[in-house]
Amino acid sequence: MPEGDTVWNTARVLQRALAGARLTGSDFRVPQLAATDLTGWTVHESASRGKHLLLRLTAPTDAAATQTTDTARADAPRADTARADAARADAPRADAPRTDAPRADAPRTGAARADAPPAGAAAASGRDWTLHSHLRMDGAWRAYAPGERWAARPAHLIRVVLRSPGAVAVGYHLHELALIPTAEEESLVGHLGPDLLGPDWDPDEAVRRLAAHPDETIGEALLDQRNLAGVGNLYKCEVLFLRGVSPWTPVRAVPDLAGTVGLAQRLLAANRGRWTQSTTGSLHRGQTSYVYGRRAQPCRRCGTAIRKEELGERVTYWCPACQPDR
Ligand SMILES: [Zn+2]
Repeated sequence: MPEGDTVWNTARVLQRALAGARLTGSDFRVPQLAATDLTGWTVHESASRGKHLLLRLTAPTDAAATQTTDTARADAPRADTARADAARADAPRADAPRTDAPRADAPRTGAARADAPPAGAAAASGRDWTLHSHLRMDGAWRAYAPGERWAARPAHLIRVVLRSPGAVAVGYHLHELALIPTAEEESLVGHLGPDLLGPDWDPDEAVRRLAAHPDETIGEALLDQRNLAGVGNLYKCEVLFLRGVSPWTPVRAVPDLAGTVGLAQRLLAANRGRWTQSTTGSLHRGQTSYVYGRRAQPCRRCGTAIRKEELGERVTYWCPACQPDR
């Protein structure tokens, strides 16, 4: 389940595979970037912000010069299409949770188009660009050695291939794939709350944002990336079980928000650097969670059958005895 820790790990994989490398080829298999060619671009760094991946690149000098005179060239990044994609990605979808959608007072990516620099103004934003991607429920990046078989997923799920002399990075089923000037990253991630695994993690600010919506259920509030960034269904369920709090408790009735937030951060941090997500301390299959994925199985604490409720991409597991309604 791609949550903050998985995305953090993925950013590190890309960092190790590509950072400092000059790309020898790229292959975008999404319509909005189909004409983009990053050959000759240098990968500066790979970072994560909540559940968003940010691959920062520097355009070759000649490419930047080219852009200032002719943005329509096939080998230059198409800022307009990247923006359009970003706008779509930010638009609330009827069939998807809106946890990542900016609030009304957050910067609106789509709205940025109107006052965006005109075509040909690439020089204004420099040569630094960011390839943004989001894993949602099913996306993944894998790094392969040159010549190695791409065995992780079926080929039809490939959305982008980035080749360097030392590694090939393949992005599968990525969402919100967009190439934007690095200076405009905030238009895609500026609405996010404090990043649980970020260098600037700010628990007080996370608590403040949660408390600002006292009537929201704590289950919804923890998933809302505008409050704090990185928690998905798995950590939501596990944190609330460990705190003995029902997922349907209003935020105002949660006894210790700071303790809840602090535990979420520790659980994610503990799983950095490995792909098995465990909240129990055990890495054995079937023993890695208290309630998540354990519908109808006995609670590890009290033996009561674990319950499950599903609503679109949101899924909740809980023990009705250990996590009573308040
Ligand atoms: Zn229980």
